[in-house]
Amino acid sequence: MDFTANYDMFLNEEHDLLRQTVREFTEREVAPNIRAWDRSGAEHGEGPETRTHIRPLIEKMGKLGFLGICFPAKYGGAGMDYLALAVLCEELERMDSFLRVVASVHVGLNSMTIFQWGTEAQKMKYLKPQAEGKKIGAYGLTEPNSGTDAGAMTSTARRDGDHYILNGEKIWISLSDVADTFVVFAKTDPSKGNRGISCFIVERSMPGFSSYPLHGKLGVRAGNTGGIVFQDMRVPVENRLGEEGEGFKIAMTALDSGRYTVAAGAVGGIQGALEASVKYAKERHTFGVPIGDHQLVKRMISTMVRKMDMGRLLVYKAGWMKNAGRRNSRETTLAKWHATVSSWESADDAVQIHGAYGFSDEYPVERFLRNARGGVIYEGTRELQELLQADFAMGTRELAPKLRCELPTYNKEAWEAE
Ligand SMILES: Cc1cc2nc3c(=O)[nH]c(=O)nc-3n(C[C@H](O)[C@H](O)[C@H](O)COP(=O)(O)OP(=O)(O)OC[C@H]3O[C@@H](n4cnc5c(N)ncnc54)[C@H](O)[C@@H]3O)c2cc1C
Repeated sequence: MDFTANYDMFLNEEHDLLRQTVREFTEREVAPNIRAWDRSGAEHGEGPETRTHIRPLIEKMGKLGFLGICFPAKYGGAGMDYLALAVLCEELERMDSFLRVVASVHVGLNSMTIFQWGTEAQKMKYLKPQAEGKKIGAYGLTEPNSGTDAGAMTSTARRDGDHYILNGEKIWISLSDVADTFVVFAKTDPSKGNRGISCFIVERSMPGFSSYPLHGKLGVRAGNTGGIVFQDMRVPVENRLGEEGEGFKIAMTALDSGRYTVAAGAVGGIQGALEASVKYAKERHTFGVPIGDHQLVKRMISTMVRKMDMGRLLVYKAGWMKNAGRRNSRETTLAKWHATVSSWESADDAVQIHGAYGFSDEYPVERFLRNARGGVIYEGTRELQELLQADFAMGTRELAPKLRCELPTYNKEAWEAE
């Protein structure tokens, strides 16, 4: 059956066409190679020399309009809405999470943040080529000694005339060795805690920038994850995103965009695990019947269906709110928490349904399981999402704190106009 049917209260024919286009792309470009790419990441490391498949794929995604999916044509985008971004992420992760990670960091964390907070000049200089797929964006918040507690970062940015001098290291950065441009965070005034953090757009070509790959990851092995280092890196003042001291707020709004893409991807991951399980449950026989006839196997399949549909509804609700210009941290956090945990649990059930074959990369489900584990950690761990939900429920966290710049409301006519 078509698990994406009957969402027309949220989606229209353009979204359906997009889904079909992304599916054809992943079936054609990714499916024949994904096992080899995943293996090569495990066996030969994840440096740029072994990750040569990533850039050409990203270029193809750019040509299809995926990298500027939810931005106005004026900024090089496809002029679609935020729900289209969810459909894109679902379909990418239905195949594998590594290209959904590209959408998450390039579109969600980087480009949407520039769209929300950037000056017109910054949007034309950075957002436009990124939306057109000519430049690749990524996002650097996490440091060796600060993840969940982002305010404990130690990277610094010292003002020197019309430049800042950045020093520090970011780790676990998706596309560290691939991206051209990074939205990063550093302290301009360490004495002010979170209020002393500022945000910068930095380029790989800036002297003092370097990157390195991380090896031995559990999942997202077809992708690239690593560290970026700033050593007396001179960044022009005009590359500061937002005001001095606004960096922490910017980082949190970026996560509202990024978590949405992770949640949508996780729904696609559940679907991938479910589809593989349904197929296998019909083919594999024990005790003279297909294993899908056994009630305990049916329960695993029906549980995946429940988690997938609930996740999809939560994601589309958050996307609908983004389209309408409504603040959606609560809804996005809930979607991210539910969908990522469900994706991991569903992949685990999918491995179980496949028995010993699920333990082998002959079938995709062990890869789904390894990949899904990351979603429970990145862009805010499960525990952070739980704490946020409790805080929203108890009123100890504001639902919509005042911001100087909001994510632009979707406007079909204006966004489609050149
Ligand atoms: C594949 C992958 C890709 C990534 N890509 C990026 C990227 O592109 N850019 C980027 O900036 N970062 C990225 N990250 C980093 C990711 O966002 C962090 O790993 C995440 O925020 C958690 O931080 P940490 O690993 O330092 O864990 P820690 O913050 O050290 O947490 C360790 C454990 O303690 C728990 N914990 C911490 N504080 C609390 C608390 N107050 N209450 C209860 N429990 C708590 C956590 O939930 C977790 O279980 C990526 C990570 C992975 C795995």
